[in-house]
Amino acid sequence: MLDFSQSHIDRLDQMCKPMVKRTITLIGGISLLLVCLHMWSLFAARQAEIDGTGTSTANMARALASHAERTIELGDAVLDEMVERAENGEMAGSPDGTPAVHLHARLTHIATVTPQIQELFIYGADGERLATSLPHLLEGSNADREYFRYHQTHAGRGTYIGKPIRSRSTGILTIPLSRRIDRPDGSFGGVAMASLKLSFFGNFYDSFDVGQTGTIVLAIDDGTLLYRRPFKESMVGTNVSNIAIFDMYRTMGVAGTAMRVARIDGVERLYSYRKVEGFPLVVAIAISREEILHEWWIVVVKMSGVVLVALALLGWGALRMVRQLKVREALEDQLRRARIKLEQQNEELQVLADSDGLTGMANRRHFEITLGAERERARRNGQPCSLILIDVDHFKKFNDRYGHVAGDECLRRVARAIDGGTRRPTDLAARYGGEEFVVILPDTDLEGARLVAENIRSAVAAIGTEHADSPYGHVTASLGVFTARPAQDDCSASTWVEAADGLLYEAKTAGRNRVAWRAAEPCIAEVAS
Ligand code: GH3
Ligand code: MG
Ligand code: MG
Repeated sequence: MLDFSQSHIDRLDQMCKPMVKRTITLIGGISLLLVCLHMWSLFAARQAEIDGTGTSTANMARALASHAERTIELGDAVLDEMVERAENGEMAGSPDGTPAVHLHARLTHIATVTPQIQELFIYGADGERLATSLPHLLEGSNADREYFRYHQTHAGRGTYIGKPIRSRSTGILTIPLSRRIDRPDGSFGGVAMASLKLSFFGNFYDSFDVGQTGTIVLAIDDGTLLYRRPFKESMVGTNVSNIAIFDMYRTMGVAGTAMRVARIDGVERLYSYRKVEGFPLVVAIAISREEILHEWWIVVVKMSGVVLVALALLGWGALRMVRQLKVREALEDQLRRARIKLEQQNEELQVLADSDGLTGMANRRHFEITLGAERERARRNGQPCSLILIDVDHFKKFNDRYGHVAGDECLRRVARAIDGGTRRPTDLAARYGGEEFVVILPDTDLEGARLVAENIRSAVAAIGTEHADSPYGHVTASLGVFTARPAQDDCSASTWVEAADGLLYEAKTAGRNRVAWRAAEPCIAEVAS
């Protein structure tokens, strides 16, 4: 059932407006939280991707360093043997200059069984070729080679890693490993050289997956580039000490991982480098940021799509909810207006139902309801209540002489005079019917009621409406006043009216234009002029 009460509507109204606001705030908060969570999870995933790749590249750098270390160690061991054999005079071959057959066979064997070694050479103090792993010894000197000059001027007996060179015998790019050969007196006696195939490193490095723009670098720690993937021959042997790896090497020590922008191609990469243990070499591997985050970007697009759909659904739901709340608000507003209008109409109807059409004062129905209520109230309070019945004198004759319209106007004036005669807001004057009127005076004793009745009588007479057929020459009224105390008197509403009517009759018979009054107890009726 619909509740049209004001308190109910007000309560709904108060609930509705904050609810729209609260709904918008709540949905807005959830959306913001969703976006924040989404961003946070994406950034966490991105960091995890970079960290995971960093661990992988660090492990790869370790593997590369280990590979380089083992390769150089092998060359080192070969050189060890070559130096020992040379210093023991094994390369002194036949007097015509052909190399010692046994040494040649040994060097050939070593070069055959070790795929990383391209060729082996033993040079004399002037750079002349004394022994080789190749089938034939070529004429000429190698005294111009950088590694040869190094050993000429350095007494150290350690392995020297030279700048990459192209073999004069085979034309292949190699990394020369060399050692000084001493004469028995300690003076420079020549150089033993084992050249490593650059392609050996290249083949190994090609087995690593570093993506399209990834890079692998093998370099001497002074910045000389030995190998770089992707391979570019013109870069081999150049000084690259200004590249990101060497910046890191100088500041971070023997190993490290960091994101840097490459000087060579301007690509941002995650670099992991490591110094090869025991040798002046640095290896590094790098994967471009773009490739590291490629999968992550796919996740970003998919997840963002899902979040956008979720936000759209949330927004749609919120919109619907707000619309419904607004519709409800509008409906409640209409209900409120309808209720106010209904109340006004009810009031108007009530007024119409309770008032007299001619005079506008309360009608007989209203009078009877009020009399019942006042009688009851007086019974409860033990207070007296008085009733005045008023009748216009010789009104039939007035109508006959002046007409019905004038009669109506006269009744309206009499009504105003009666209304003016009452004083308290609780007093009620009503038209009882025809040219008869009645006044209820709650909490009023006989004396008070008599005074009011006298005032009314004078007021009616004072209207001054001519009445040629009245002995008074103007309109007058007769009044009957009856007072009772319902708490003591057994006096019903009808007997009350009858008593007042009886007194009115007494006033009429006593000559009209006067008041007759009596109280219920003692029952004394008096007639006054
Ligand atoms: P009394 O002094 O004995 O009261 O004489 P009366 O002529 O006033 O009494 P009666 O009851 O014989 O006549 C009442 C008249 O009041 C009759 C009727 O024409 C007139 N009357 C009743 N209601 C109305 C009304 O609404 N308008 C007009 N113009 N006259 C009315
Ligand atoms: Mg009458
Ligand atoms: Mg009359």
